[in-house]
Order: sequence, then structure tokens, then C-alpha cells
Amino acid sequence: MNNKKQDEILKKLKKYHETDFSFSKGQILGSMCTQPLPIAKKAYNLFLETNIGDPKLFPGSKEIEEKYLFFLKKLLNAPEKSQGIIGSGGTESNISAVWLAKRLNPSKKELILPKSAHFSFKKIASIMDVRLVYIKLDKNYQMDIKEAKKKINSKTLGVIGIAGTTELGVIDPITELSDICQKENVFLHIDAAFGGYIIPFLQKLGYKAPDFDFKNPGVCSITIDAHKMGCSAIPLGSLMVRNREWLKKISVDTPYISSPKQPGILATRSAAPVAAAYAVAKYLGVKGYTNLVEKCMNNTFYTVKRIEEIGLGLVTDPVMNIIAIKLKNPARIVNHLTKQGYKINKIEKLSAARIVFMPHVTKQVIDKFIPVFRKVCNETGEI
Ligand SMILES: *Cc1c(COP(=O)(O)O)cnc(C)c1O
Repeated sequence: MNNKKQDEILKKLKKYHETDFSFSKGQILGSMCTQPLPIAKKAYNLFLETNIGDPKLFPGSKEIEEKYLFFLKKLLNAPEKSQGIIGSGGTESNISAVWLAKRLNPSKKELILPKSAHFSFKKIASIMDVRLVYIKLDKNYQMDIKEAKKKINSKTLGVIGIAGTTELGVIDPITELSDICQKENVFLHIDAAFGGYIIPFLQKLGYKAPDFDFKNPGVCSITIDAHKMGCSAIPLGSLMVRNREWLKKISVDTPYISSPKQPGILATRSAAPVAAAYAVAKYLGVKGYTNLVEKCMNNTFYTVKRIEEIGLGLVTDPVMNIIAIKLKNPARIVNHLTKQGYKINKIEKLSAARIVFMPHVTKQVIDKFIPVFRKVCNETGEI
């Protein structure tokens, strides 16, 4: 081994990495991702040389995956006969969910979803023979239920409800959607990529958060990401389906690897992020996650107060640890903040900018950020 050459390469890589914005330096305030917990990093490194796509070669890894899915099953109140599949994130889980709905109802094409849906559904419509039927939002930025009900017809492939929208963290009226879809016998998928790791803990803390999970009998599948509020390492998201038999519909024969059939999209995939997510679940448990969410919510409300003191307002009251600040010119503010070393996300269509109170966005980070934000707002004529 040529150590000198390796050192040179690593030095160059470090230089590149230094130009990245960083969670730990408190620069990233608009992302739904965060630093993996230290235990997640250690678990990840242990499993670098694994491939759960070939499970009989890595039975230990496979067992960890089953244990992690069992944790999710309990978290989501999934029935005994449910089954999860693990993939790269929310996008992949949403693709698999619509793929499943399509295989259960091959002749149907129309996917009903709120205007607040994540852009992954645009990719889905581009990949599959699916037409997106967008439903307007009501005054609370939730999917308009009456409108959704009206749009269900014999061509309806499925309905998408969002539990924690990407822009505002809003939860659609899932219980009502569940009733409607059960009555109409339509597939209901819940995109809880972000909210899946928050809502169960908000409920434990006594926040007004509706049941979004399999407690609603009409819910057929749920997307949930460990690499967002799960505080684990990228890439990891899961799709939980109500009936494991359904997975046969999205499985193919895999004659030359160690399992006869494989569901989902990926083949080769690492056990590293799975081990990381499992390690965090074991380490934090429900109690640890609840404490974490409590901190994030406290920081959210603390910041709302500080923003109001500046004389700015929100698009809507926070439902979870996301706020959207109303601005005259969000792009200009975001650009100015970038120059000051801060990253928040603009939402042009709401004329707002988003802050996500992930665990790395601590009170200290906020206290450093607010004066900079105020100065930028002052200089650009926002306030
Ligand atoms: C983040 C997010 C996604 C996409 O997930 P990725 O892990 O980025 O692929 C989908 N839906 C919602 C609601 C999200 O917040």
C-alpha cells in the first residue's frame, strides 16, 4: 500500500468537504436531514462490507433488518401480517407504493394527491403510466377532503395523503381519507417520509396530532425515512405495507443470488444504513425520540417568538418542527444569508422561507442566527 499517495488523496478530499455547508457548525437551517448520532456512525462503519441484496451471504445483516422493521411496525401500529421493505429514502418508497397500487389495479391510472405532495410523485408519473390529479388545499394547507372525494372514480388508482408536508409540516386529514378510501375500495398511501418519526412522539407529548398510521383501517402503506428525523445515516427509507402478500406483486425471481425472490427496486444494497437506523432505535428508543422531538418543538416555538419580535409572520402555525416565514422576497433573503454562511430554503409559491428545527438546530444556533437574519431583513427592506 502506498500510504503517501493515500494521504494526498485524502487531503484533497478533505479540501472539497470543507466547502460543504455543515450541520455541526450550525449553518444548515432548512434541511430535513441532520447529523447522524455517533452510534449511527459507528454502526454504519461496522457494516461497510455487506450486501443485504444477497441475504444468505449476510444472515446477521438480514436479521438486523428484520429487527429494525419490527421497530417500525410497532411505531406505525402496523398489523401482524404487515411487512416492510427498506430502500434509499422517501422517493424510492413512494415509487414502490405506487408500483404496488398499480400492480393491484393494473387498469387504473389516476393518482389523487394534494398540491402539497413531494416532487417524487412527479418522477413517478414520468416513470409509470400514472396521471396525477392534484387536489387543492384548504385554509389550513391540508388536502381539501370534499374535492378529493369528488375526484374518486372508476379510474382511480390510489390516493396519497401526506403526514408532514415537505414545505409546512402539515398533516392531511388521514382519518377522513381512510374512511373515504375504505368505502370506495381505493388504495391509500401515506407519505410520512418526514412526519413518521415525529408524529408518534408528538402524540406522546400531548400535542394535537392526528392518527396517521395503520390505526386507520383504510391506510394501505406508509413511507417513513430514517435519514430525516430518525437521526440516522443517509440513505435509509422504508415502505410498510398492510398485507405482506401484496409484496409478491412487486417481487421478481432472482435465480442467481441466495434468495429466490426479491421485492422492491434495489438489488445490491448496504446493511450499513440499516445497522445505523437500528442502532439509533435501540439507543434512543421511544423515550429518547420523544425527548428529542420535545427539544425540537421547544426550539421551534422559541424561534417563532423571536421572528415575531422582528416583525415578521408565519404562513401558518407550526404543526411540527417546521416553520415558513412570510417574506416579500424570499430568494433575496436566502441569497444574502448564504453569503453569511447560513442555508435556509425558499418556498417561492408561498412567498416564504423554511426553517426545519432538526436536532442540530439548537437554541445556541438560533441565538446566533437571529441577529444575522434580522440584519439581512433590515438591509433588504423586508422590515
Ligand atoms: C423528504 C421527503 C420525500 C423524499 O424523500 P427522499 O428521502 O429525499 O427521497 C418524500 N416525501 C416527503 C413528504 C418528504 O418530506
